[in-house]
Amino acid sequence: MVTTFASPGRYVQGQGTIRNLAEVLRQVGSGKPLILQDAVVAQVVEGPLSSVADALHVGFAGECSPREIDRVSELARDGGADAVVGVGGGKTLDTAKAVAHPAGLPLVIVPTVASSDAPTSSLSVVYNEEGIFLEFRFFGRNPDVVVVDTAIVAKAPVRFLVAGIGDGLSTYFEADASSRTRQRTVAGGAPTLAALALARLCYDTLLEHGLSAKLAAEQGAVTPAVEKVVEANTLLSGLGFESGGLAAAHSIHDGLTILPDTHHFLHGEKVAFGTISMLMLEERPAEVVEEVVDFCLEVGLPVSLGDIGLEGINQEELEKVSVAACAEGETIHNEPFDVYPEAVADAILAADAFGRRRRTELVDGAQGATVERKIITSEDRTAQQRAARRGASAAEGP
Ligand SMILES: [Zn+2]
Repeated sequence: MVTTFASPGRYVQGQGTIRNLAEVLRQVGSGKPLILQDAVVAQVVEGPLSSVADALHVGFAGECSPREIDRVSELARDGGADAVVGVGGGKTLDTAKAVAHPAGLPLVIVPTVASSDAPTSSLSVVYNEEGIFLEFRFFGRNPDVVVVDTAIVAKAPVRFLVAGIGDGLSTYFEADASSRTRQRTVAGGAPTLAALALARLCYDTLLEHGLSAKLAAEQGAVTPAVEKVVEANTLLSGLGFESGGLAAAHSIHDGLTILPDTHHFLHGEKVAFGTISMLMLEERPAEVVEEVVDFCLEVGLPVSLGDIGLEGINQEELEKVSVAACAEGETIHNEPFDVYPEAVADAILAADAFGRRRRTELVDGAQGATVERKIITSEDRTAQQRAARRGASAAEGP
């Protein structure tokens, strides 16, 4: 099979980079761009954006839905826009892609948060108006330029940076699964060695610098650790997933979006829990699971169902999530073994149990406890399913 590597034309990251937006637009040949931006970030970026002459400013309505994509596309057409600039979070950027690419317009992406690996990729994730996952749209074209202003990213609530870490945490494991089965990636071919290496670098960078970056960003400070983690969340994870492949973690995320209680959690937060579930599904050694779970606890990412609004999930809901995660076309089928909803449900319960246990040991300060090496036994599984059916678990931590 052919291997393929895709990337944006250029990636620019650093403090104050947004001030060069007018120059970037000149370089892509634009004199009248449509700038799609989040209302929330309007004040932060107003100055630099107002310096772009003759721009058509459009406020993002809040969801990357077919209706919103059509609305903005129409404004671009009617206004004679010759390029599209997306300024904001993942959903805004995905909408900008879905407007620019089908129209054949140059695309400049300006993430204002480092909350996901959406900025560099050639696809959009489309949801309905209620926030339920609908489809991926693949464009076969990446943004022309991605401009990341770390001064802006560091000023955003730190929860976004942490969510981006959660999204990036899955990249290596998913690329590893896809590489083993040589599945076709979003880039259009089998995974490249380059993507797998970048995905591994992403994982190592997050584990090494994630906590320091979070602490610095809490103070609005841009340190070398913040720069490294922003690059890992955005560039390394973006290139790693697109040309390395996705697998179970993102499908479990997609399944979780079926339940409305998860809607106020960020993509990367759900992906972090999806990653722990994926490690269970793959029967990864407990050391690996422990490394990931401990890191999540350290930076404040979800490690249990309760952490993503699903404390007391019942059997029927769990089944819905697992069935959705295994739907045809989901990347969970890139795993190097057959995956069934029952196995996914068990993996989710096992991840939840592991996460709660590590929290009790680490955060609640239980002394001298050791982690069970055999992660889940059939008795455990039956007990967990019973607990899930009861709608709550007595062992749930704070
Ligand atoms: Zn993601």
